Amino acid sequence: MRLRDLPSVDELARTSDDPLAVEAARVVLARAREHIRAGADPGDLGEQLRAELRAARAPRLRRVLNATGVIVHTNLGRAPLAEAALEHVAHAAAGYSNLEYDLDAGARGSRQTHVAELLHRLTGAEAALVVNNNAAAVLLALAALAEGREVVVSRGELIEIGDGFRIPDVLVRSGARLVEVGTTNKTRASDYEAAVTADTAMILRVHQSNFRLVGFTERPSLRQLAELAARAGLELVDDLGSGSLGAVGDEPLVGESLAAGAGLVTFSGDKLLGGPQAGIVCG
Ligand SMILES: *Cc1c(COP(=O)(O)O)cnc(C)c1O
Repeated sequence: MRLRDLPSVDELARTSDDPLAVEAARVVLARAREHIRAGADPGDLGEQLRAELRAARAPRLRRVLNATGVIVHTNLGRAPLAEAALEHVAHAAAGYSNLEYDLDAGARGSRQTHVAELLHRLTGAEAALVVNNNAAAVLLALAALAEGREVVVSRGELIEIGDGFRIPDVLVRSGARLVEVGTTNKTRASDYEAAVTADTAMILRVHQSNFRLVGFTERPSLRQLAELAARAGLELVDDLGSGSLGAVGDEPLVGESLAAGAGLVTFSGDKLLGGPQAGIVCG
């Protein structure tokens, strides 16, 4: 580096009281030392510092193209929000809101009431709760209803969705104990029934979101499982994954699952539903 480059560094540091500038300078100098030790030219340190600062100050999220859509690729953000929703978010988030305040009662409200009523109308559920994402919804349902007790799951539904969401691991995290029943391709209602003990808290059904079992396969209907759960005094939780509210291919509908007798249905708010990242628990 030539001496006459120094003023630009000085200028960068002086026009910024940003602690990032010190951090960036250290990164650039450490890299330069390595280059020098290796006998290489460390390059223009001023320019490197400027680039380092630009990168550190840039927003992390940027727009990308997802040519497959959210159903096939769920890592590129989720559903883009509708224009009307975006406008309302921008308006509401620009100031204070009635998020946790009941304007009619003039008292503290619940942040859940805004969506619970809508979900009741859309799915017929008596109650609904919105949490961070569907993975959280499943974990919370298990922890709340089955901690320290047994949860019966078909071997055909011990799935991995991606990035560590594996049903057996989520069960361990929740404090519940997994009881596997049936086989990979065939599980019958009688398999579930035979696994029920005094320690059983729940039957968990999981949607095979990202793969298909075809051929010599069998699994009981949700209604059959609901009858068994009612008889044995168990919770029946249905993790629907995408959770469709209107007909999309052969995706099971949240309302149908509830009508068939699932006590709780969990699904993503940002897959087929098209909302912001959220997990929804209806029941
Ligand atoms: C996608 C999915 C999840 C996880 O949902 P996130 O909203 O990504 O946390 C859980 N279970 C099933 C069956 C899924 O398809």
